[in-house]
Amino acid sequence: MRKLVRPLLLTALAACCGSALAASAANDQPHGKLPRWAMPELYQLSFKVDPRQQDFSGTTVIKLKLTQASDHIWMHGRELKVAKVVVTDAAGKKHDAKYVDVAPQEGVVKIDFGSELKPQELTVAIDYTAPLNLQLQGLYKVSHEGQPYAMTQMEPISARYAFPGFDEPSFKTPFELSLTIPNDEVGVANTKQAKEEPAGSGWKKLTFTRTEPLPTYLVAFGVGPWDVVKGPDISPTEYRKQATELRGVAAKGEGHRMQHVLSETPSIIHTLENYYGFGYPWDKLDLLAAPDFSAGAMENPGLVTFRDWLLLLDKDSPANYVRGSFNVTAHELAHQWTGDTVTMGWWDDLWLNEAFATWMQQKVTQKVHPEYRADLDRVRGAQGAMNNDSLVTARKIRQEITGNGDIETAFDGITYQKGASVLGMFEGYVTEPVFQKGMRAYIQEHKFGNATADDLIASIAKAADKGEDFKAAFRSFLNQSGVPYVQTKIAQEGGKTVLHLSQSRYLPVGSSGDANRVWGVPVCVRYGTAAGGSKVSCELLSQKEGTMVLADAAKNTWFMPNANGSGYYRFSMAKADLVALGKQIGKLDDAEQLAYDDAVGSGFRHGDLDAGDVLTALKPLTASKTREVAIAPLTTVDWIYELEATSDAQRAKVRDWVKSAYLPRMQQLGYKRKPGEADSDSLLRTALAESLALDYQIPEVRAELLKQGDAALKTKADGSLDLAAADPDLLGVALGVAAQERGKSAVDTLIAQLPKTSDPASRNAMLQGLASVKDPADAERARDFALSKDVKVGEMAAILRGNRDTQASRDAIWKWSVANYDKIVARTGSFAGGRLPSMMGGGGCSQAEADRLEAFFKPRLKDVTGAERGLAQTRENTLLCAALKAKQDPAAIMR
Ligand SMILES: [Zn+2]
Repeated sequence: MRKLVRPLLLTALAACCGSALAASAANDQPHGKLPRWAMPELYQLSFKVDPRQQDFSGTTVIKLKLTQASDHIWMHGRELKVAKVVVTDAAGKKHDAKYVDVAPQEGVVKIDFGSELKPQELTVAIDYTAPLNLQLQGLYKVSHEGQPYAMTQMEPISARYAFPGFDEPSFKTPFELSLTIPNDEVGVANTKQAKEEPAGSGWKKLTFTRTEPLPTYLVAFGVGPWDVVKGPDISPTEYRKQATELRGVAAKGEGHRMQHVLSETPSIIHTLENYYGFGYPWDKLDLLAAPDFSAGAMENPGLVTFRDWLLLLDKDSPANYVRGSFNVTAHELAHQWTGDTVTMGWWDDLWLNEAFATWMQQKVTQKVHPEYRADLDRVRGAQGAMNNDSLVTARKIRQEITGNGDIETAFDGITYQKGASVLGMFEGYVTEPVFQKGMRAYIQEHKFGNATADDLIASIAKAADKGEDFKAAFRSFLNQSGVPYVQTKIAQEGGKTVLHLSQSRYLPVGSSGDANRVWGVPVCVRYGTAAGGSKVSCELLSQKEGTMVLADAAKNTWFMPNANGSGYYRFSMAKADLVALGKQIGKLDDAEQLAYDDAVGSGFRHGDLDAGDVLTALKPLTASKTREVAIAPLTTVDWIYELEATSDAQRAKVRDWVKSAYLPRMQQLGYKRKPGEADSDSLLRTALAESLALDYQIPEVRAELLKQGDAALKTKADGSLDLAAADPDLLGVALGVAAQERGKSAVDTLIAQLPKTSDPASRNAMLQGLASVKDPADAERARDFALSKDVKVGEMAAILRGNRDTQASRDAIWKWSVANYDKIVARTGSFAGGRLPSMMGGGGCSQAEADRLEAFFKPRLKDVTGAERGLAQTRENTLLCAALKAKQDPAAIMR
């Protein structure tokens, strides 16, 4: 957040550009969308970049259409030092224009023509210089093993740091890009390089082919001593006549580690083409492993950029990296259709990009790697989103955009996971082939253009031959926040088994929200039949109340109110019905078992169940062979252990519950990966080790991990750590145990060695070690270290979010964060403003913590874009936790 904006800098910027002009221009300055009477039609972007320098220079030439007479136009630009603006009119006459930095914090600028021009085609040419950004946005600088690189991250509104333009998603135009770079460096961009020519002593100029129409936020390029490695060509299909060239781009020396992800890529592209009936539309595909990155990855057409650990893999890579690599690659490649080919019209429809990419990634993964269980990822993702969606301060999927903060905080679980779950729910309702037909039509109708939610809903409704009821049901999930709470009551009526349904908004204990809300919910119920099997019955519940007849139901049947776990809703049932359902766990599929876990957890948070009920109801799930199901209960059980259990006896009771559920599994898996074992076993090993060793401090597990941590912290002859001595899936938790047990010596070693380590998986494990430290003085040293240049900007939060499971640790983090606030903010990009309050004060569970958070942030909100929502949600979570805690009688644990 540098949107955060130090006042000194602002003053300097304003002074540079003529304050009298700025004052008059401000009168009709647009807030939000730019006016449509100046429409860009083509950009020619030329950059001169040497990553070793502090600044770069550029010339932006924009062909645009002026549709009303005006003496100025409005555009975007931030921190650009403009030397010259020339406007050429349709007759070829040149006008010296002025670039006026009207609103430096928003990045709105005015191009003043000096006199009124009639409606016509204009060319605006702007020469400027700007700093290579140090906060991972716009055209930014990073380094790997001491070598600097320059690369871009434009989404959502950072293109304005790299070049002046119309920085909104609905202005889609072709781009012609050229890069003038040092002779010994490599340049890559969205499209193929068409030409290379000398450009004076030590420089060369690379010209790239013209892009298809793109919004500014999808423009991408990189300059540096990159390794560029060839992957397999993506073979043609009926939807694409030519083979597509595929390459990997990585920091020098790392290129050979990209073969795994490159080998997976063609099958992802083919799956997407077959689904959409539309060929991959760009002239090549590069995957770039970025040495530092603000998000996980970015879907730039033809040049997809990732955090390096998602792409740099080898045979010993942790299982969650290999799986994460596939999932994220599938997500970004899905965007090549939803997002890049068809782009949202405005940021309130970000879900058209992100919910679809999330939903489609799960579909691709289910097809190519069914063993990755993306079906369960969708259910778990939705349940995570439901926790956030239960807040009064939750966003809607289609949240109104009132300022830049709303754009930046739109990238959350509501847009991604709730969105994907809602899509999956309506897809199930109209059936998969019908939904696909609608999606194919949507892509065809809007290719290389923009679309809105109504366009999408219309395409699906048409394919499904559905009318206004269906559209209204779909919209009810997009245009209001909250989780539907479906209350169920089973009865025998006239010889039939009838399920009475009623809906309201799910609100946890302590919420100030209004429960009176109605959706169009496709409710599907599984129940036992007289024949001994089970059946599913569905109904669109669009009123407050409804009924469903359970045909052929067994007498006194059990029922599961969210069949296949695919509905985005929570449910409640009489306690006796829940107990009866718990006895039928084996008859439910894995997704339904996750829905059962959520019902127990949400019933606890709703005040219907106490800790004793929870421990009894969830125990059967722990025996599941499916990792996601087996560990699902830990979310609620951890809360009871950390926040409800007060006496030693209560804590021992919960610890024993966990130990009896999971320790035998841990011992059976062992502490080293077995040759050829399923990756789900490796993932379960990591999850159990973290829980048993770090959360529940089980001595025998800690002892095993400490052995590995000690061995990993030994220095080899070449001075580096012997990290390979630990199991690759357990390295992070082993270093965490070592840091807790060995204290200062382990922390010293990690701090000294991190700067010498370039492998991202090793670095992440070392960061996990530092984040686990318990001793207050050591923890403070780790946090101080997080602010140093040796920790990358994108890594800092990994340490600062560290251990906060006790009041004392939260107090220490808070005190330190307040004292170092300016330094934290100075290192954080604007994109992270919404996360700042939870990074500093998250995990709290008392009125006092909520109060201090609010007192600190309230006066600072105007300087940190996005922090307002971050504060509201962190505060509400803190108060809800306090209310839930106040409601509990810890004696229930002992029952
Ligand atoms: Zn995405």
